[in-house]
Amino acid sequence: MKKLCCILSALLLAPMLAACGGSAVPVSHEISSDSLHVKAVEDLPEDFILGMDASSVIAEERSGVKYYNFDGEEQDIFRTLAENGVTHIRVRVWNDPYDGQGRGYGGGNNDIDTAVEIGKRATKYGMKLIVDFHYSDFWADPGKQMVPKAWKDMDIETKTQAAYEYTRDCLQKLKKAKVDVGMVQVGNETNGAMCGEKTWFNIQYIMQAGSQAIREVYPEALVAVHFANPEKAGAYAEYAKKLDYYQVDYDVFASSYYPFWHGTLENLSSVLTDISQRYGKKVMVMETSYAYTGEDTDFNGNTISDGGTYTKDYPFTVQGQANSVRNVIDTVAHVPKGIGVVYWEGAWITVGTASWEENHKLWEEFGSGWASSYAASYDPDDAGKYYGGSAVDNQAMFGPDGHPLESLKVFGLVRCGNEIAPVADAIDDTMLAVDLAGSIELPETVNAVMTDDSRQAVPVTWDVDDAMLQRMYAGGVADYDITGDAGGLEARCRISMIEFNFLTNPGFETGDLTGWSLTELGRTDELYVEDKLTDSLDGSWHMHFWSAASDSVEFTLEQTPERLPAGSYKFAVSIMGGDCGKTDIYAYAKVDGEIVAKAPMTITSYGSWDTGEVRNITAAEGQELTVGIYVKCQGEGNGAWGKIDSARLNSQS
Ligand code: CA
Repeated sequence: MKKLCCILSALLLAPMLAACGGSAVPVSHEISSDSLHVKAVEDLPEDFILGMDASSVIAEERSGVKYYNFDGEEQDIFRTLAENGVTHIRVRVWNDPYDGQGRGYGGGNNDIDTAVEIGKRATKYGMKLIVDFHYSDFWADPGKQMVPKAWKDMDIETKTQAAYEYTRDCLQKLKKAKVDVGMVQVGNETNGAMCGEKTWFNIQYIMQAGSQAIREVYPEALVAVHFANPEKAGAYAEYAKKLDYYQVDYDVFASSYYPFWHGTLENLSSVLTDISQRYGKKVMVMETSYAYTGEDTDFNGNTISDGGTYTKDYPFTVQGQANSVRNVIDTVAHVPKGIGVVYWEGAWITVGTASWEENHKLWEEFGSGWASSYAASYDPDDAGKYYGGSAVDNQAMFGPDGHPLESLKVFGLVRCGNEIAPVADAIDDTMLAVDLAGSIELPETVNAVMTDDSRQAVPVTWDVDDAMLQRMYAGGVADYDITGDAGGLEARCRISMIEFNFLTNPGFETGDLTGWSLTELGRTDELYVEDKLTDSLDGSWHMHFWSAASDSVEFTLEQTPERLPAGSYKFAVSIMGGDCGKTDIYAYAKVDGEIVAKAPMTITSYGSWDTGEVRNITAAEGQELTVGIYVKCQGEGNGAWGKIDSARLNSQS
């Protein structure tokens, strides 16, 4: 059933049109969706910024990319964005992204002229522009904040003046072109560096210079500072404190928030709330995005794809992408003075579908890849080595054919919701750890991720046979990925065949003797759990001993696992140390208190670990198995010392 929901009226946009000389095309559009579930964001302010960074669009179009509307017609992408609820367009600006022969560095070749072109089109459809000055000739982010070529040899005073004049001149170009500028950033993800400067004392001069120029040319625009890594404890509080200390004139403290890297929404809310309440600043998310697929479409690998080590709170589906964006909007909208969310590069799609070579030609010629080979002269270590296409085509809100994805409607639909009946959208991955000596019991149900982000158990049929299971047992410690069918959706299960360790706290990583029983038989001077990575075999903790007096080291360290199933086991533990003289050291196993097996061990020198292993320990039903290490050292030189780590008790088939 078709549900007509959001109507963006020309009336709502009227004040913006008046501000930009009446040249804008009124955009009024009904937004509806039969498939996208969007929970309304309660109390979303009418002037809440729902932005899209569209920096690469011009380079994309020059490379032959065509964008379409939801009716399947080719249409100016800026109109399509406005029709779907986008209120602001963000564009990055680099001072001089060209080499000595005028060849573009790529990443959209975003100089101020490109920004003017984008700004005019955004303004035409009633959207405001957010100008993002990097104060660099190419990408500025927490990893690099390189000074523009022309400013390389300037002292801070001269550079400050240059930053002021550059900002002023750029903004005047935008003003002359009647671009409706709503906000201007002084720096991009300036985590403790900017424009080649690495001290806050100098950074603040550049920020102040930018801010001053903005106030003069666009007094009605907001001045924003922008940082990344909200998940880094205390970092934002520190930046805000510096800005306050140096009295930097700004309105908005903006953050990047990529959910797979940047911590939880609760943490984001907490750090932004802290800044808005402490300093009275507006706050927002200046960059966010999410993958709608794990697939790459332009032959240049993506920053996020299936199988990486990052947080995946939503499935990589169009609905998952929309849910991620909706929840970021919901979070920022409920932070005091939270004013908006900008999606990053939602239109940076593949420039072709033939091959890397074909695409590469276009990336080089038009700058539509993240970097061209020409960037090598400026950024030899990164762009110079890894230049190529889009690393975020799977996070775009347009498919590889230029047609908008249903998720683009989220910007409009958050205003009144589209809470249609939820259906299964994807299946949560299943992880299964199986003891090599145990049995593989595949789950009969898996969790379906519903379009409203809730979960429902659904039956699954795994695509696996007995021969395959036998191979898993025979293959030793290894991981296997199997797939299955759950109501027509693909289910995936990673089976990790492991040697299950029946010991608690086997490497002392709890930082104490949890699980262990230590019996001091001598008068060892130092006998405790120690945190020292370089002296550990696994993790950073181990058991440490040292004693100055001779014949004073003697102890046992043992563990009796609870509820150990009857069966056959093997036990091992490792030791290293020095200055021990004559020793009597062994790993042992006891059944019902009687030693049944011993494995002698030796201590030689630092870093030389010796492992004692006892095998074929059989514990029958009702018997108690204890495993441990006995250490006795005569000691010599500076006194006997040693480290014990990495105990393991495994089934033995
Ligand atoms: Ca790609």
